[in-house]
This record gives sequence, C-alpha cells and structure tokens, in this order.
Amino acid sequence: MNLPDEQNNKYDVVIIGAGPAGLSFARALAGTNLNVVIIEKLASKILADPAFDGRDIALTHLSVKLLKDLGAWTRIPSDCISPIKEARVMDGTSSYFLHFDHRKTCHDALGYLVSNHLIRKALYEEVETLSNVRLMTNIAVTSVSTDCEGASVLLSNGKTIEAALIVAADSRFSETRRLAGISAAMRDFGQIVIVCRMEHEKPHRDIAYECFNYGRTLAVLPLTGNQSSIVITAPTYRSNEILNMSDNQFSDDISYAFKHRLGRMKLVGERYPYPLIAVYADKFVSSRFALIGDAAVGMHPVTAHGFNLGLRGQDTLAKEIKSALARGVDFSSSTVLKNYQSKHRRVSHPLYLATNGIVRLYTNDILPARIMRKTMLRLGNNIWPIKRAIMNQLTAIEN
Ligand SMILES: Cc1cc2nc3c(=O)[nH]c(=O)nc-3n(C[C@H](O)[C@H](O)[C@H](O)COP(=O)(O)OP(=O)(O)OC[C@H]3O[C@@H](n4cnc5c(N)ncnc54)[C@H](O)[C@@H]3O)c2cc1C
Repeated sequence: MNLPDEQNNKYDVVIIGAGPAGLSFARALAGTNLNVVIIEKLASKILADPAFDGRDIALTHLSVKLLKDLGAWTRIPSDCISPIKEARVMDGTSSYFLHFDHRKTCHDALGYLVSNHLIRKALYEEVETLSNVRLMTNIAVTSVSTDCEGASVLLSNGKTIEAALIVAADSRFSETRRLAGISAAMRDFGQIVIVCRMEHEKPHRDIAYECFNYGRTLAVLPLTGNQSSIVITAPTYRSNEILNMSDNQFSDDISYAFKHRLGRMKLVGERYPYPLIAVYADKFVSSRFALIGDAAVGMHPVTAHGFNLGLRGQDTLAKEIKSALARGVDFSSSTVLKNYQSKHRRVSHPLYLATNGIVRLYTNDILPARIMRKTMLRLGNNIWPIKRAIMNQLTAIEN
C-alpha cells in the first residue's frame, strides 16, 4: 500500500468529486489501509457547511442503513429527518390515486426525507475524521490517464497525482468520464424542475403526493411540522414564468394547483431550478477507472432514485475492493471493476428505463397517454404484486 506522501503524490485511490457519492465512497474505504485522496473543486468551507440547495432527498430504507453503516446518519439532527408514511400518486383533475401505505409493510415509514445539504455535511464530517483519506479542495482534475501499469490525474494547479485506481464522482455532467473516453446516453427532457419549501395551514399527516397535473407535475413531500418540500416539473419555456412570479402569486398558484388540500400554502425561502437531463454511462469502468454516483447514472428525480442508487453503487464498488484486499489480489484489477459494473448495471438499468418511461407517459398530455396513465394507476392499485414490488424497492434493506 502507498503511505500518505505529499512529496511524491502517490496514492492507492484518487476520488474525483466530494459530492455525496464521492464522500460516501471515501468513508466506505475507512476500514482498509488504502491511502485515498479526494480532489474537489469547491472550497473546504463550502463542503463543511453546505448551503441549502432546495433538494430534500427521499431515502429508501437501504440508504438509511448504508448511511448508518457509514456513521453519517447519527450526524443528521433527528428533527431534520421526516418520515413518509403514505404516498399518493394522482393524475390530472381526477381524485383517484395510486396508494402506498407503510401499514402494508413491516416498517414504520415508506422512506425518509432529508435535505441534501445535511447529507453532504454529515458525510464530510465523517470523512474529516479518517486518517487514510486526504481531501484536496479548491482544485479541479483537468486530465486523467490510465493504463495497465497505473493511473494518474493532472490537477488545475499543474501537479500530477498517481494512483492504482481513479474513481470519478464528478456529477452527471462528468468531465472526467469524457476525458476517460467513456460515452454516455443523455436524455434532455426539455423540462426544468423547480424545488422549494412551503408552509401550510393543515397538517400533511406524513403523506407524500405526486400529482401529474396536465402541463406540469407537482410533488408535495412532508417535512417536519406544517411544512412540505415542493417539486414542480414544467417545460423549460415555462421556467421564467414560474420563477418570476412574486412570492404571493407563487403561493396562490401552488395552493390552487394542489386544490387547497393543505389549506393556504406559503413559500418559505427561495425557489431553486435544475435542468432535467438524465444520463446513463455506456460503461461504468475502464482500465483502473470507475464511475460512481451521478457520473455513472444521473436519474430524473421523479422516482427519487438518484442518490439512493449512487449510495448503493459506491457500496457495491467498496465491497468488491474490500473482498479483493481480503483475498490478497489486486483491488484495481479489471475483474474487480467488472464485477462492480455488472452488479450495478443490473440494479440501475431497469430503474433508469422505468423512470424515463414514467416521465414520458406522465408528461405527455395527448389523449392516449392520459388514458394509459389512468389505467396504470388502477392496475398499480389493484394488482398486488406490482404494488408490493414498488414498496419492496423502498423498504428493502438488503443490497
Ligand atoms: C431537484 C432534485 C431532487 C432530487 N431528489 C432526489 C431524491 O429524492 N432521492 C434521491 O435519491 N436522489 C435525488 N436527487 C438526486 C441527487 O441529488 C443526486 O443523485 C446526488 O446529489 C448526486 O451526487 P454525486 O456525488 O454523484 O454528484 P454531485 O452532487 O453532483 O457532486 C459532484 C462533485 O464533484 C465536483 N467536481 C465536478 N467536477 C470536478 C472536477 N473536474 N474536479 C474536482 N471536482 C469536481 C463538484 O464540485 C461536486 O462537489 C435529486 C436531484 C435533484 C436535482
């Protein structure tokens, strides 16, 4: 193993990007004696105390278990963790809904909502305690090079770092994926997602709503108290109209679109826009190089799988590496990387295709699509194996 050596800049693993995926992976390698460096272009001040970015992440039970294993869960204040007890999926103006209820499972909730900035903060605090991980911030990776002998990255400060393995976790628009010559299928939905928080008069009773209204979709996700996380998706040409409404106009608009189910709703803080582009890398590994997180699979947020998959994928890669170390074989070999790739593709590809299919169906307002989606909701409600498969996806804790 390489020892921490700032002089010759040699490491066992270079992780590019200290987002939630990169930080989780670094933390997952804590029990090994691998010498790890994370390169992140943001400043450490931002990583230590990330600003709220509007994203409240719906976590599955498996993700909660993984975050507990990583020591991050207990670092999230318990009053900032909101259970989702029921979920209702609605279409157009109909009051009929596809219903998921935690009482049909052996769990006290279908999942949990935690703000993205708190997940990042908790993971950063964990990584900071590790003696085998060095965090280099305010520096970008500008080039990567790999062959069967080893790998190296060129940094924006002109220095080179050598390693046995490069792991790229640098977002769905990953530059280093491109630099490594890995192509990716990208789907631009021509839509924008706008997220924010709102207070409301009536309690939400821990129920999450996904309303596929014609023209735009609206998700209302329960937070602690009489507050919800709001997720609006709309065609990109409508983004300025929604973002430029006054706070009062916006509050009225969402109260009306949600049919006043929660009484009057009032915007709290900012509205945050994100472009909707889904990405699936054509392969997750090449020689001494692996993609994790959104760099491997960047999901449309409608099914709330993005970080859940990122967390699961990094766990799969870390387990393959640890297993190789235990057997005394090269942890960066193509066999190890390909095992990760096949396992993670098997889990992620069906979810990626299903999510894109749901988006296509539920954002298409022509009559056959409207009929089809109403049929789907009824089938989902009445065919128990479909419903159970979806609930298992949320509540299972085995990888
Ligand atoms: C509106 C919205 C709602 C969402 N809701 C959910 C949800 O409910 N459930 C869920 O599971 N997921 C959800 N997601 C998805 C989730 O937010 C992402 O999957 C997750 O944040 C991706 O983490 P990451 O670490 O892979 O990438 P990122 O968070 O994008 O981090 C990448 C990091 O790499 C750094 N970087 C980039 N390039 C370089 C470089 N060249 N050199 C050095 N550093 C670099 C960046 O500065 C950044 O810190 C949602 C996403 C959005 C947009």
